[in-house]
Amino acid sequence: MKKTLSIPLALLAIAATPHAEPADDLHARAMRLHRSAIVVDTHEDVPYRLEEKGWVDIGKRLTTGHVDIPRLKEGGVTGPFFAAYVPAAFAERGSAKKALETIELVHRLVADHPELVLAESPEAIREAKRRGKIGVAIGIEGGHAIENSLGALAAFHRLGVRYMTLTHTNTNAWADSSGSFWRPDFEPKKYAVHGGLTDLGREVVLEMNRLGMLVDVSHVSDDTIADVLETSRAPVFASHSSCRALSNIPRNLTDDQIRSIAATGGVVMVNIGSIFLDQKVVDDFLAKRAALGPQFAEIARKYKDDPKKVEEEVGKVLNGIRTTRASWRAAVDHIERILKVGGTRAAGLGTDFDGIEDPAEGLEDVSKLPVITEELLRRGHSEEEVRGVLGENFLRFWERANAARVKVSPREGPLVPSKP
Ligand SMILES: [Zn+2]
Repeated sequence: MKKTLSIPLALLAIAATPHAEPADDLHARAMRLHRSAIVVDTHEDVPYRLEEKGWVDIGKRLTTGHVDIPRLKEGGVTGPFFAAYVPAAFAERGSAKKALETIELVHRLVADHPELVLAESPEAIREAKRRGKIGVAIGIEGGHAIENSLGALAAFHRLGVRYMTLTHTNTNAWADSSGSFWRPDFEPKKYAVHGGLTDLGREVVLEMNRLGMLVDVSHVSDDTIADVLETSRAPVFASHSSCRALSNIPRNLTDDQIRSIAATGGVVMVNIGSIFLDQKVVDDFLAKRAALGPQFAEIARKYKDDPKKVEEEVGKVLNGIRTTRASWRAAVDHIERILKVGGTRAAGLGTDFDGIEDPAEGLEDVSKLPVITEELLRRGHSEEEVRGVLGENFLRFWERANAARVKVSPREGPLVPSKP
């Protein structure tokens, strides 16, 4: 059925736009461009998936999850960032240990697979491309990982960590989060503990500037973004967020925020989860969650003395919600909006593969990324602009952030010594 339909539809498209490139030529040109380009994806939750959903050999092509080495190759990915995600549950205890274990896991993945190399700089990603390797980089997700220690932050940098998302869904001791929008009792005020960054939060940002650790504002509150923009002396970025104007959730960025991030020399990396991309999906989710109200009330009643159990049971119900999916074209709509609002070098890819349950249709896993290249060309973007979105915009941002390092003078003496 699909085959018989495809020819007349393609002809129709050509008839409608007299100068359109024939579909086969466009596809071939897109694949050539994609294969020769450096493709960076700044957020893949491979360690989380291995820890939470069971150990698998990512050297083999798998039918589960979104990322493995064969599918990274098919998707033409040169520089994936594997997230060292520290769940909010570790905020009170053991968050640095959790981060260390997850970073060690990434180092072992790299050591175990000859196709992978560790990438700690833009040049390392370019070198990986030249050698036909995949340059895996590391980003910490959740600033509570540093346990309020600038020394721990610097030590993470020595272990190869090259960005840190300042919060996850939890507000930590020095930065407000945008919170957990998914929860039935979501209330932004609960997360607005500091009104943005505290003094320590500002020091963390400056120390990241000094180290050359990229400052990631995905997950943080609007006030925190404003404080980061005011504080950071290096360009900043959002590793896996999309546009709030197209999908109104607190995890996405407003046009003003996109403009301001781009003005620092930063980039916004599009998250391809359906709810990040399409307002219809947001509305569908909210309606389905509202219908589950009695179930949430029952959980709250049943486990009223056990908040952890409530959390767990609510999480299970939320995970069971199946929403409609966004189209992969919506991901390209978001890229275009960022390019329009932030300028032609402001957009990139931060898929959130292996961390989301609802990738857009047509972008079911990392092997599907070339559809983005093809759609951008179809919409008339230049090859240079497409290369920018695929990876060059991010690499240039990273280079600018590194160049800004020397401008920050190092703090003298111990970096916040711990007390027992
Ligand atoms: Zn995230």
